[in-house]
Amino acid sequence: MNDFFRADLHCHSTSSDGTLTPKEIIQLALQKNLNGLSITDHDTIENYDEALQFAKEKNLPLISGVELSAEHRNKSVHILAYGFPIDALPLKKFCQKHHERRKNRLKNILEKLNHHGIQLSWNDVTHTNSDDFHHSIGRPHLAMAMMKKGYVSSIQEAFQKFLGEKGLCFVPGEAFSVEETLDVIHQSQGLAVIAHPHLINDTSIVQDLLAMNFDGIEGYYARFSKSEQDRWVKIGMKKGWLITGGSDFHGDVKPNSSLGSSWVNEETFSILYQHFQQSSHNKI
Ligand code: AMP
Ligand code: ZN
Ligand code: FE
Ligand code: FE
Repeated sequence: MNDFFRADLHCHSTSSDGTLTPKEIIQLALQKNLNGLSITDHDTIENYDEALQFAKEKNLPLISGVELSAEHRNKSVHILAYGFPIDALPLKKFCQKHHERRKNRLKNILEKLNHHGIQLSWNDVTHTNSDDFHHSIGRPHLAMAMMKKGYVSSIQEAFQKFLGEKGLCFVPGEAFSVEETLDVIHQSQGLAVIAHPHLINDTSIVQDLLAMNFDGIEGYYARFSKSEQDRWVKIGMKKGWLITGGSDFHGDVKPNSSLGSSWVNEETFSILYQHFQQSSHNKI
């Protein structure tokens, strides 16, 4: 076992709300001497084939991944999925539904912002006039556009005043349940992991999730304190689940989490990597 092995299993690219392209993330991972990676964009697996091709050329083991937005009793829950074949149809269709959800939500938020005197257009946020784009647009894109136009001075301010759950222009958007999301992941031969469990911040919801058929929990997370990490690792071990981890790197939009600042060891990475190879092989 290589004691220096580090694989970051949670990061975002320009396919959703990160600021580096998948190729740039792979290059950064190599610069940082990471031994493995999964890129987990919000609700999309677009561009994964290109990323896999590039990672192969660069000899960096890359595992398919995605971070799916779900809701449980009106509370937002993020679910990471790993190791599915990138052409898995149930997941592709599900991501398409999320894409429609995000486009509708964006229209509704823009309307609300306009009512509050914030003149942002579809183009300011998506950088296209049509709705034929493939990346996942989220609130960080709106926050960046608001900053660029001088309406707020930071991303935090945009969320606090306008976009966050308590903000003036918050729109919840259509919700997908945790159960439905788990079904899609499992039908797609993926492994389902509770993302950043500390953000759920509600014991009864955590209890509900722990009773569902997840395969893992994110126990190593860039901004966890040691005691927090130990708590989630212990819970995951008790369940016999995989304990995953990653930085939740987003690039410049969230500058305080650098790529590789949280990671899993060789043993955990190998389980996921083998699962990915097996599921992709079964599919062909
Ligand atoms: P969305 O997918 O559009 O609901 O946006 C969720 C994204 O917004 C997540 O990646 C979060 O990291 C980010 N986010 C949520 N709340 C905040 C906040 N208060 N400040 C900065 N980013 C946030
Ligand atoms: Zn994000
Ligand atoms: Fe998340
Ligand atoms: Fe994330």
